[in-house]
Amino acid sequence: MYQLIKNEGTARRGRFETVHGIVQTPAFMNVGTSAAIKGGISSYDLVDLKCQVELCNTYHLHVRPGDELIRRLGGLHKFMGWERPILTDSGGFQVFSLAKLRKIDEEGVTFSSHVDGKRIFMSPEISMQIQSNLGSTIAMAFDECVENPSTREYSARSCARTTRWLIRCKEEMARLNSLSETINPYQMLFGINQGCVYDDLRIEHMKEIAELDLDGYAIGGLAVGEPAEDMYRIISSVEPHMPANKPRYLMGVGTPGNIIEAVSRGVDLFDCVMPSRNARHGHLNTWSGIRNIMNAKYAEDLSPIDPDCGCPTCQRHSRAYLRHLFKANELLAMRLAVMHNLYFYNTLMERIREALDNGTFKEFHDQYVELLDTRI
Ligand SMILES: [Zn+2]
Repeated sequence: MYQLIKNEGTARRGRFETVHGIVQTPAFMNVGTSAAIKGGISSYDLVDLKCQVELCNTYHLHVRPGDELIRRLGGLHKFMGWERPILTDSGGFQVFSLAKLRKIDEEGVTFSSHVDGKRIFMSPEISMQIQSNLGSTIAMAFDECVENPSTREYSARSCARTTRWLIRCKEEMARLNSLSETINPYQMLFGINQGCVYDDLRIEHMKEIAELDLDGYAIGGLAVGEPAEDMYRIISSVEPHMPANKPRYLMGVGTPGNIIEAVSRGVDLFDCVMPSRNARHGHLNTWSGIRNIMNAKYAEDLSPIDPDCGCPTCQRHSRAYLRHLFKANELLAMRLAVMHNLYFYNTLMERIREALDNGTFKEFHDQYVELLDTRI
């Protein structure tokens, strides 16, 4: 249940109620691919890092340890020790990016596991069954992710298939939610807008899936290497056709600047591996730009990564110490750096929400949109 609290231009301040608690939007979902945030971050750390929603990957958990096993153990919340909302992706993106030897037909996709090469078949129904076994708060529809670039003709055919698959997802989710042994009978389903970089296909597809009255809508297939301007243009084209009373999720985005631009165009939810991946390479987000902690100038620098940051790392440790940990290949380097970057992203969203509450988002946008993506 999504409640729009306030608009500033097309930017939205909202409140999204789920069976696992309320999500204040705009929000960033922290990516725990295989039921863990890479870098040694636990579920109780995530509470300190102001994480509202954790995202886990259906495909990875299906392959290992297996969704049936997680169901027998009481579901993903219990398994990870995380009580707040979880969003699971459908496996579609991984099937189309990680897996080898794919064969797509109307029924679904056959492919080989990236772990042991085992043949796996995934269909809209199977994706819903796996996500139901995991018992996540929000399940994503199983869609076809076309490569970018793709021809207009292929993209159009793929959109039509994605709509037919979405109808099957909705029917299967309703069936699973009605079963007495279902872990989360209130599991929600988000549909995904596709259409590559063709605005008219995107709009037509969005109109079709809006009629299915789902719990939320995502824009997929972007942030895969196209220029940021194309992404912004597509969001602006599709946004007027997205239901105003449902949350909107831009999948796989992005830099702080990308997020600020997308919020200003009406997006509520984000996810990206960027903050944790960059942190593991020593690239740290700060309120004055991106700092590379490996830089020799930090060898004797006793100040925190960011003097304006309240994260557990900045409260206790210096740039000099963190740089040393990276140079010495200590595991603690990863953990401290990832904690900082996730705290930064979650705080970025908090400050965006405050700016929207105060009607000062335009000023916030102008002050930070370029600065936060600049290298120091
Ligand atoms: Zn920090």
